[in-house]
Amino acid sequence: KPIVLSAIQPSGSMTLGNYLGAIKNWITMQDEYFCFYALADLHTITVRQDPKEMRKHILDMYALLLACGIDPEKSVFFIQSHVTTHAQLAWILNCYTQFGELSRMTQFKDKSRKHADNINAGLFTYPALMAADILLYQADKVPVGADQMQHLEITRDIATRFNGLYGNVFKIPEGFVPKNGARVMSLQNPSSKMSKSDENVNGCVYMLDKPETIMKKFKRAITDTDTKVYFSEDKPGISNLMTIYGAVTGKTMEQIEKEFDGKGYGDFKTAVGEAVVEHLRPIQDEYNRIIKDRAYMEETWKKADAFAQNFSQRTLDKVMKKIGYIK
Ligand code: ATP
Ligand code: MG
Repeated sequence: KPIVLSAIQPSGSMTLGNYLGAIKNWITMQDEYFCFYALADLHTITVRQDPKEMRKHILDMYALLLACGIDPEKSVFFIQSHVTTHAQLAWILNCYTQFGELSRMTQFKDKSRKHADNINAGLFTYPALMAADILLYQADKVPVGADQMQHLEITRDIATRFNGLYGNVFKIPEGFVPKNGARVMSLQNPSSKMSKSDENVNGCVYMLDKPETIMKKFKRAITDTDTKVYFSEDKPGISNLMTIYGAVTGKTMEQIEKEFDGKGYGDFKTAVGEAVVEHLRPIQDEYNRIIKDRAYMEETWKKADAFAQNFSQRTLDKVMKKIGYIK
């Protein structure tokens, strides 16, 4: 089976954007591919975290991903910081990554604007760690949201450069934005993407939000002064709500336009909220069950961590030998 690698940071509580843009696809890919899924907790500290909150986010995210349908019998679902090769290869790749190319990364520009008091070196070299995550597993395919495509391109550049110097060490991974992977925007600011690290919590729907909270957030979503529900670049708020509604119900944009023909924004927003609440209900129930079973969670990640360590060590050993390190 071709190898897939993808990761999510426990940098906050998982959003509907993460789920519709990434995680839903992780679930469906499990049968066709050999999947490595990582909880990217090393990446998380590029932005300052509170220790207590961070521990909670890691556990919540692990339980929630299992609840969403990641099957530890099929996929290797591990915790990045438990597998030592990631930090090791990241250091090496740092030395094969240029200042100029890192300076062009839009995520770095965005995040250094948002966290101007902490523009640390890790935030800058984030793509080298992400390249290590992917290249260690000789991944064929890497599903990402559109926001991560630039990091995928730099990963390919780093790998190609390294192979050019030392021969074929890394598989050049193919990044792709899954066809049905929705790009979900903030409900309060539809020109910027929904992010778990966003301070404006009203713009984000979290997977573990209570039904009342979800309904309230959708009712308050920013729209426009028009009254008609249709998909258009000039209507980013309504189009975003339509994308979300389509992703959870499977309806096409035309079907949605027809369904709400002659109805107002109020009815539409209520329908979107209700559809999301219903979609999340079984996931939340499953999460509530798993989060209480710490022993099961620990047993699951330990097995995955050991597998990932062993698998990735082969790539790291090869890299170090090629460079000239001795054993
Ligand atoms: P952070 O704000 O800490 O960067 P994030 O919400 O951007 O968090 P990540 O952990 O960086 O989440 O990304 C996990 C996955 O979710 C990636 O594949 C990313 O492309 C995808 N993703 C993130 N935000 C969205 C969104 N708004 N719509 C669709 N996909 C998204
Ligand atoms: Mg992100």
